[in-house]
Amino acid sequence: SAHDTTSPNPKQSSSSTAPLAHKAPGPRMNATFVTLARNSDVWEISRSIRQVEDRFNHAYNYDWVFLNDAEFDETFISVTTALTSGRTRYGKIDSAHWGFPDFIDQEKAAKVREDMHERKIIYGDSVSYRHMCRYESGFFFRHELMLEYEWYWRVEPSIELFCDVSYDPFKFMAENKKKYSFVLSLYEYEATIPTLWDSTKSFMKEHPEHIAEGNSMQFLSDDGGETYNHCHFWSNFEVGNLDWLRSKAYIDFFEHLDKDGGFFYERWGDAPVHSIAAGLMLKKEEIHFFNDIAYYHVPFTHCPTGEKLRLENKCHCNPKDNFDWNGYSCTKRYFEMNKIPLPEGYEKEQ
Ligand code: GDP
Ligand code: MN
Repeated sequence: SAHDTTSPNPKQSSSSTAPLAHKAPGPRMNATFVTLARNSDVWEISRSIRQVEDRFNHAYNYDWVFLNDAEFDETFISVTTALTSGRTRYGKIDSAHWGFPDFIDQEKAAKVREDMHERKIIYGDSVSYRHMCRYESGFFFRHELMLEYEWYWRVEPSIELFCDVSYDPFKFMAENKKKYSFVLSLYEYEATIPTLWDSTKSFMKEHPEHIAEGNSMQFLSDDGGETYNHCHFWSNFEVGNLDWLRSKAYIDFFEHLDKDGGFFYERWGDAPVHSIAAGLMLKKEEIHFFNDIAYYHVPFTHCPTGEKLRLENKCHCNPKDNFDWNGYSCTKRYFEMNKIPLPEGYEKEQ
């Protein structure tokens, strides 16, 4: 849209703060960081950017796309531009992608919010949170600023990265034929998705051609697909392939869910939506667990298993905080399904 702005990029000049010697050699992937944020998130996203730059991007200078349903203000633009080493781009979200579709019954949606408020379901009374979840489920990868890229790394406000990332995760994904990735997995809050699996099952019936052979059904269901076990990858961190999200398979899935109305009549999150899509429409080998990317988003920590790895990558997380081998994590199921050995040191650190 006409509101999109791209900051001038003075960072290639000699005044760059990171010494040239620290630039990673070799080509870059067609990739970008992407952040959905409000102007009021500026200080929280600044903390995240600083960590991503210090731990990784100062050596790679990948672009960073910021998306917002409102116009970004001068403070947001100047602060985030100053903190990033690559080109920054700022996009306003089209109102057609952020709001109620016309087939949603407003009265019914309002009653649900009231009911969820009384039941104290987190974000249950929020309209904007629902628009956000629907946008992250079905639209961010189609924003005009995102169309030119093949890979994305999602970054949210107030995250932490505890270890150096001393290789290019985008390149790793491409070279190893990965399409989606995660660092934390857990069980979704049932009250937010009571009919998500019903909608998924009717999609599977309608579109068997989109269901991959050798998929991750075993991660999502304990009874061969009859019921959902609520396992999902935590989508506030994602490194993934945008062409997959823009594929007919994914779009058909999103549109099927959207028509069923659960983004508004329930409170479907983008995490279970992305996870079910990846779990059913990708081969299980196409989903990657980044053990070496140490990460925090309130309230969970992924601190890499394996002391050698932590020391080599200058990690500053406490391994006792690692959530992976906790009973509420689904990560062990991912290892079992893929028949890959648990990381070295797992016994000592669970
Ligand atoms: P939580 O992690 O599920 O608690 O949700 P967050 O509050 O972190 O929101 C998820 C992401 O969406 C973050 O990147 C937020 O900055 C962003 N976000 C949430 N609500 C809005 C909104 O109404 N407008 C915009 N522009 N961004 C939002
Ligand atoms: Mn968040």
